[in-house]
Amino acid sequence: MARDPMRTRDPRLENHGERTVTAARTVALTALALGAACASPGSIGRVDQLARATGARTVLLEEHFSLYSPYDLLRTREYVELVETQRAAVFELFGVQSEEPLVLWLRLDERMGVHASITDDRMRIESVSLETHDGILGEAGDGVVVVRVAPLDVIPLPDGRTITGTFGAGMYEDTLRHELAHVAAALLGLRERAWLAEGLAHVVEWIPIEDGHLRLDPPPEALKRAARLPRETRSLEDLLDWKQHFPPSDDDGAKRILACSLTAFLVAREGVPFREALLRVAALDERRILALQGDWSEWLDAIAKASSTVP
Ligand SMILES: [Zn+2]
Repeated sequence: MARDPMRTRDPRLENHGERTVTAARTVALTALALGAACASPGSIGRVDQLARATGARTVLLEEHFSLYSPYDLLRTREYVELVETQRAAVFELFGVQSEEPLVLWLRLDERMGVHASITDDRMRIESVSLETHDGILGEAGDGVVVVRVAPLDVIPLPDGRTITGTFGAGMYEDTLRHELAHVAAALLGLRERAWLAEGLAHVVEWIPIEDGHLRLDPPPEALKRAARLPRETRSLEDLLDWKQHFPPSDDDGAKRILACSLTAFLVAREGVPFREALLRVAALDERRILALQGDWSEWLDAIAKASSTVP
């Protein structure tokens, strides 16, 4: 189970991701069991209770995924294409397939969202929050992906009517790609340690990949951020031992950025398409990686130099 705090802030976390994911999974498994046997009035009632416990208003059972959404059908449809496209792209990148439909739960988080007001025919955005109540943006494990989403904002008009709005589905594309990468890595059979598990998921989230190869020119923003971190943070020994803290320490955000840069460095160094490169990197002996301390640091210096000369 990978639980992903917000990538750039210092979030507070609570340890309840595991329990709720299991609930969503149970709904899917129960539904499958019902399909195989005959649903009795009692069992369908339990499925309904579980489905409602997710806060879902719309449940879509697509060919490749089940989507539990807190929104109405119209708004939920926005997500169908996004999930289909990203699932296909990420699974292709990892060269994996799955017989079982992915379970995707769009889970409401009251802290997230956009708040707007309207006066004199002008709309004013009062605030935009991408923060969640416990600092977790997404979770993934065992064919289940949870993405935190914003509630609808109800904006009163001067004449007493209201309009509603929220983020578009595209706002969650990065988080979705990140969590799908965890699912795909598990399907590929990778059992990685934290630096590589999060490193590869952030690579998929943050770095453009064309024809199976990372596009590193011009340097992606995530690598520029890694290169800008103080040089003393570039310790492979520390990075290889890193584990996400719950609640997270101040250091976790930096470690994620460094893990992304190390994964990108090792994948690019293999010079083969992403899937094959990942398998090779996952098989690398820890001592081989530690021996690359100087090369990795020079690679980061080159990125820092390239980004300081490019406007
Ligand atoms: Zn992750």
